[in-house]
Amino acid sequence: MAKRDYYDVLGVPRTASADEVKSAYRRLARQYHPDMNKDNTKAAEEKFKELSEAYEVLADTDRRQKYDQYGHAGVQTDFGPQGFTWQNFTHAGDLEDLLSSNPFFEQLFRQGFGGDVFGNVQSRRSQVPYRGSDIEVAVHLPLSAAVTGAEPTLEVPHSGRCEDCRGTGARNGTSLETCPECEGRGQIRRAQSRGPAQLITITECPMCHGVGRRIRDPCPSCEGTGIIRHTRKIQVTIPPGVEDGAVLRLARQGEATGRGVIPGDLFVQVMFQPSDTIRREGRDAFTEVQIPLSTSLFGGEVRAPTILGEAAVKIPPGTQPESQFRLRGEGFPRFRGSDRGDLFVTVHVEVPKALTPHQKELLREAFGEAATAGPGRSRGLFGRRQ
Ligand SMILES: [Zn+2]
Ligand SMILES: [Zn+2]
Repeated sequence: MAKRDYYDVLGVPRTASADEVKSAYRRLARQYHPDMNKDNTKAAEEKFKELSEAYEVLADTDRRQKYDQYGHAGVQTDFGPQGFTWQNFTHAGDLEDLLSSNPFFEQLFRQGFGGDVFGNVQSRRSQVPYRGSDIEVAVHLPLSAAVTGAEPTLEVPHSGRCEDCRGTGARNGTSLETCPECEGRGQIRRAQSRGPAQLITITECPMCHGVGRRIRDPCPSCEGTGIIRHTRKIQVTIPPGVEDGAVLRLARQGEATGRGVIPGDLFVQVMFQPSDTIRREGRDAFTEVQIPLSTSLFGGEVRAPTILGEAAVKIPPGTQPESQFRLRGEGFPRFRGSDRGDLFVTVHVEVPKALTPHQKELLREAFGEAATAGPGRSRGLFGRRQ
């Protein structure tokens, strides 16, 4: 069968921009849904593969140039001896958002582009990962951020696809050659005769680890790994009401390794720094204040620490030690919510350690002579025991 022109396959003019090529590919790719192609899944896969091959060439400036100049002959060495396979496809990322809505792609990606999209397990190639690894980072925030939310900038260790070699590890992404050990099959078949029976063992090729191709000239930027390591700054939005120790998931902000796979997820654990003044219990907050004896007797006002600053607490006359006052709406919000819990303020009364003779006299006059309390008598009783 004669190879179709790549521009015809994607239905775009030769002058199409990179964006036009991409949207044409995405539009056509959406049509290859197994439910829509139940009767002939094999044909659907072949069509989708043809489409992806055309896109693999036209989405890449260098390859597109070679194709424009020399036609199919200009790019045929980019792929293996059998022509384009899913191993050659490096633009899976351009379809990643279609993944969740389309089981066709889900299946395609899960099988790591190995051989047959529609479940031919025999030719599955496990070393091409479905997605990159997840990353976990912890972020430490002041407790006030549980009320206000925060947008910290995190430095996340990151390894991404080497763009110089398009994640292949081979110089310019093109210096790949067919593996001489397995002749591009990725597998080694060994036949042994056991009497009348012939035993065939199939193992992954040890030289190319099942890829079928090997690197002739390693990419100098990534030393042949296809992966570049660096750190990346990511601004993370921490919404109000996050619990201490909660883990937020940022989809696809994790590692993107080579060969066009989908990045993993980034998990951010939120840790609140303990506060000297505020204790958190669910949506409620607790704090303590000291008031002078005179305030507990005559009433007054005291400043109490709150999560975000300070608030005035009215102390009525005759306030007992360890009384608790409730400040409504000064607690913590619900996750992503606005209504806040309450702040409970416990009042400690400072009793003077020493009094002047004049103060003693005035207090005796007001309250009378100190009565001997029960526990005092008990002590005396026990004191006489032998
Ligand atoms: Zn091999
Ligand atoms: Zn590289």
